[in-house]
Amino acid sequence: MRVLVIRRSSIIPYKNSRHEGTFRTIILVDEEGTKIQATLFNKHNETWKDSLKPNKSYYIAKGWLDSVNPNYSSVHKEVELPFTDNTITQETARNLICVLVSVNPLIQNANSKRREIVVTTQIMEHTIVTLLGDFAENDGAFLEKLQDDKPLLALCDVRVSIYKGQFGISTIPVRSVLINPMFQKVNDLRAWSEIIEANNKDITITPTKVMRRAIEVTLANILDGLFADSEDCMYKFKATIEDILNKDEPWYSSCKKCHKKVRFIKDTAACNNCNSQNVEYEMRYCLRLEVCDGERHARVILFEAAKYILGCSMQEYIESSLVKKEECYYYRKLVLSKAKQFDFLVRIDMNDSNPQHSLIAEEIHQAEDEAPIIVDAKVKSVRMYEERAKKNKKEQPKSNKRNKKPIESRCIF
Ligand SMILES: [Zn+2]
Repeated sequence: MRVLVIRRSSIIPYKNSRHEGTFRTIILVDEEGTKIQATLFNKHNETWKDSLKPNKSYYIAKGWLDSVNPNYSSVHKEVELPFTDNTITQETARNLICVLVSVNPLIQNANSKRREIVVTTQIMEHTIVTLLGDFAENDGAFLEKLQDDKPLLALCDVRVSIYKGQFGISTIPVRSVLINPMFQKVNDLRAWSEIIEANNKDITITPTKVMRRAIEVTLANILDGLFADSEDCMYKFKATIEDILNKDEPWYSSCKKCHKKVRFIKDTAACNNCNSQNVEYEMRYCLRLEVCDGERHARVILFEAAKYILGCSMQEYIESSLVKKEECYYYRKLVLSKAKQFDFLVRIDMNDSNPQHSLIAEEIHQAEDEAPIIVDAKVKSVRMYEERAKKNKKEQPKSNKRNKKPIESRCIF
């Protein structure tokens, strides 16, 4: 239900024969003008300390109405709203940050075009958003291509409707969609990010399914080629960042067409790959790290994946670090990643016989931030892989020893 907070008491200590603690009362008014009192006890005061502010309105889900506790005075004769661990509040914003789950096909008739997409947030269940008109056709088609990456969306200027008092399914006519917006630019969505932060998750850089499902090996396993094939060639390992080799310029000038490094001849950029002396170019991330897992050292290169450390796009990074780099939040975040442990996701094609010194990481997440690893029947245990690998090695001496190499597709130099 949608409510407006009209009064919030200070936190009051209480003590009776059975319990002792603190509480605060909040007076809410719903859209029909009915006043309801909510009482927050003990830890719930902390949970909602930054929410439920006077003169702001909120959606409340998973709360229920309770009969009035006669020990406390209440504004409503019969019911009050107890807050529990399951109660969800959302400030009624006209913007919504969510993660794209799936995109349905375009529905088109003579007069209209519409398309439904399904989104989710950390606290909200799957919600249907309806895109209308050109958004359905153009943005919808674009989102369809991106849906496997589960991009973060900021839906601007939306109307959220709550169905039967729950977030369950609601339809939102959308006027503007931002894909993978950066938090610095969405200050007006603070209410959301606060809730998400309260859950200790930053959804811009949440580990993907590929990351979660990749087989965990050691750095030594990777460097020595001592592990067995996995279907998708994706592996992850834990290592500490010992050094950031190009922290001052973690980028390169990239051909806009093929993403290879361009050469500058006077004022023009030439691309060998495109065989052109004058190409359009842009800066792209290329972050070089020296990592160690306590036993072995390796060089790791992050292209796009640098965003997982920096938390912003290349463009935004350059803009925000241009003037006073040391004061730039993202730059400091980068520098502070030194000496911390991360999980690295790498793609290793073992059939490729061209070994390389550097590993290209597709994702990187600070070790303690990672979501629980989901293990299913397809993903077998690390031990099993190591055993198979050792067996392979025994049976196939030197000549057949497999070399490994990060996939070629984004190798630019
Ligand atoms: Zn090119």
